[in-house]
Amino acid sequence: MKSVLNDIEKIVGNNNVGENISLKNFTTFKVGGPCDIFVEPEDEESLVDVYRYLNDRGIRHIIMGNGSNFFVSDEGYRGVFLKIGRKLSNIEVKGNTILAQSGATNYSIGEEAIKSGLSGFECCAGIPGTIGGAVYMNAGAYGGEISDIIQSARVLYADSNEVEEVFKEDLKLSYRNSIFHNRKGIVLSAKLILEKKDSQSVKEYTRELMDRRRRKQPLEYPSGGSFFKRPEGYYAGKLIEDSGLKGFRVGDAQISEKHCGFVINRGNATSKDLLNLRAHVVNQVFKEFGVTLEMEVRSIGEYDE
Ligand SMILES: Cc1cc2nc3c(=O)[nH]c(=O)nc-3n(C[C@H](O)[C@H](O)[C@H](O)COP(=O)(O)OP(=O)(O)OC[C@H]3O[C@@H](n4cnc5c(N)ncnc54)[C@H](O)[C@@H]3O)c2cc1C
Repeated sequence: MKSVLNDIEKIVGNNNVGENISLKNFTTFKVGGPCDIFVEPEDEESLVDVYRYLNDRGIRHIIMGNGSNFFVSDEGYRGVFLKIGRKLSNIEVKGNTILAQSGATNYSIGEEAIKSGLSGFECCAGIPGTIGGAVYMNAGAYGGEISDIIQSARVLYADSNEVEEVFKEDLKLSYRNSIFHNRKGIVLSAKLILEKKDSQSVKEYTRELMDRRRRKQPLEYPSGGSFFKRPEGYYAGKLIEDSGLKGFRVGDAQISEKHCGFVINRGNATSKDLLNLRAHVVNQVFKEFGVTLEMEVRSIGEYDE
């Protein structure tokens, strides 16, 4: 790993890379051990170069936005974490189009949409991730999702050498899914098409949906949002509650009493607590309802799936 570290330093500069970095504070779940190398490129050119480098050499790596949809194993991750964050978060508004670099947060895009009187992003503004992560997950809430507003994304696929503009149809967006689950690639930026409206009404709707989150979701605890995907025809939270698992706890991992679809970290939850809790919940819900719950949150590291 020493030679990999040296090579990466040459690409991104030694201020933008570290060794043996704890991932706990880089995820909203606040769970996880260290990765071997953590790199946060400060411009698109070095991001592209380092991504090509990792793929060309077959070096194990994970792309990370805001870390709001995964937790890392207690033993950490043997490989490279490639963080796309504040340094790559430019947002440009032109007419009714927003062009956002992949590290731009949904919150900041929502604020730009308010300023510019653009409607359509209100449902996503409270999702605590980056637009890159939102495209990967086809994130959404309150009846809307990224697929409703995205026109295209600039992408570098791992199996290609070229940065290309990929249009919506080819991003294969469906419920919490995109082409990137089957074809490895990095989203560099996204182009969103919104609708002109008055700024005040966009602001009011955005704030209303944020308030709804605060009222219904256990935002006072670390979590990864909805822990399980919505099984067709059901709501995961309701199945869990009706299985008598409200407040069910393994170590410091707990089914939220406020919203059974959320698993929260009561302080010092470990990845083992989370996975043991998952196993119990999946078993119980299957016994009660014959429905198999699937995790929406990703677990990374020793427990790679
Ligand atoms: C309190 C809370 C509420 C939430 N509410 C919602 C909600 O209402 N709706 C919803 O859909 N989700 C919700 N989530 C889950 C999460 O915020 C979303 O899935 C979000 O889109 C993840 O973005 P991120 O930047 O944090 O991605 P990360 O968690 O960092 O990464 C998620 C996945 O995307 C990949 N990825 C990230 N960036 C890129 C990129 N640039 N190119 C390619 N791949 C990339 C990663 O490799 C990883 O597989 C919630 C989470 C929390 C903690």
